[in-house]
Amino acid sequence: MDTRKSQELFAEAQRLLPGGVNSPVRAMRSVGTDPIFIARGEGSLMYDVDGNHYIDYVGSWGPLILGHCHPAVQEALEKTLRNGTSFGAPSPLEVELARKVIAAVPSIEMVRMVNSGTEATMSALRVARGFTGRDRIIKFIGCYHGAVDSLLVQAGSGMATLSLPDSPGVTKGTSADTILARYNDLDHVREIMAAGGEQVAAIILEPVAGNMGVVPPAVGFLEGLRQLASEYGSVLIFDEVMSGFRVAYGGAQERFGVAPDLTCLGKIIGGGMPVGAFGGRREIMETVAPAGNTYQAGTLSGNPLAMAAGLAMLTELGKPGIYEALEEKSAWLADSLAESAAAGTIATCQNRVGSMMTLFFTAGPVTDFGSAKASDTGRYAEYFKHMLENGVYLAPSQFEAAFVSLAHDEDNLARTAASAAAFLRG
Ligand SMILES: *Cc1c(COP(=O)(O)O)cnc(C)c1O
Repeated sequence: MDTRKSQELFAEAQRLLPGGVNSPVRAMRSVGTDPIFIARGEGSLMYDVDGNHYIDYVGSWGPLILGHCHPAVQEALEKTLRNGTSFGAPSPLEVELARKVIAAVPSIEMVRMVNSGTEATMSALRVARGFTGRDRIIKFIGCYHGAVDSLLVQAGSGMATLSLPDSPGVTKGTSADTILARYNDLDHVREIMAAGGEQVAAIILEPVAGNMGVVPPAVGFLEGLRQLASEYGSVLIFDEVMSGFRVAYGGAQERFGVAPDLTCLGKIIGGGMPVGAFGGRREIMETVAPAGNTYQAGTLSGNPLAMAAGLAMLTELGKPGIYEALEEKSAWLADSLAESAAAGTIATCQNRVGSMMTLFFTAGPVTDFGSAKASDTGRYAEYFKHMLENGVYLAPSQFEAAFVSLAHDEDNLARTAASAAAFLRG
């Protein structure tokens, strides 16, 4: 595989951008290789600057559930572009997308558009704190909610009480208001709440975890959190930036039948443009400025191009049979990988919820960050490189999801399965 142009670009990029990239995971450091520079995408494929192409299972980290350059999204963008790129004043597309999101996700009665998932979670936490008049938040180890100061925390040695900054620049004061809990461990959350639940403004989580690799919620976990949040008057926040419109049209809350107080969205609702949103119960959302006093603002929020792409995306996803088709493709691929793994000697365990899945290189089961961390990341790096050389672009980290899109056809899936089989069967 010739990747000379990618290598040249990366050499220059490293002088101009920290680490040569604008977001860390793209640098591919955790699989010990250099990034591939992408020139264009089409359907299920990405083409790099050297002319190689790959079946893409990253899908821009989730948004591209229809594949690259879907005609409906492209047309909406082209049409909207002719009227201008930004007004800094209300425009009709914002109302239309809000209507669609509210219709799709019943727990959302009002919504605020922002520009990224990070902005959505950061704002939702501020609103939860403003609404409750409390400072503390509970987050789960292994869940990622964007590059938000108060969420970039790690467990302190004492566990379960104070957490420590997980990045330089995050102050001890900021991290001290974040309490870390173990994912899928309801008893742990119960203990934390019993010890001071009346100070907890919000419990935030990925209702289907995707950022430690895919980890589904255990039976009763979401229901139990719902109950605890209600009991103590804390705001339950589902971060559905990844799972929203992915695991079902109405997200994980539809799939698992549990309603949060606030929901964060992003990725798919922007159709590949930079978008985030947060919304929920009217009583809470009416505290957001200018309806209420909790400040939140954005120069480009509700941007017409982003709204148009999101609308086109959600319109496509609202058509009959879409999630059934995604389920069928994903199940076929997962079954095939499981069969190959069973025929080989490498320990693996696979988690899948709808069209998001992770093949962990550990015997499993993987139910939380601790069990995910048991994975052989060296083996994953070999698998990643093997797949890349065979024209399959997976996430360059064990602790990410593979996303199946509607653009993946039978031939794509069969080629992916065959490439994986060659590695897994040994
Ligand atoms: C990607 C992601 C975010 C952050 O979104 P950005 O648009 O990258 O800021 C937040 N939460 C979850 C669950 C995500 O997957």
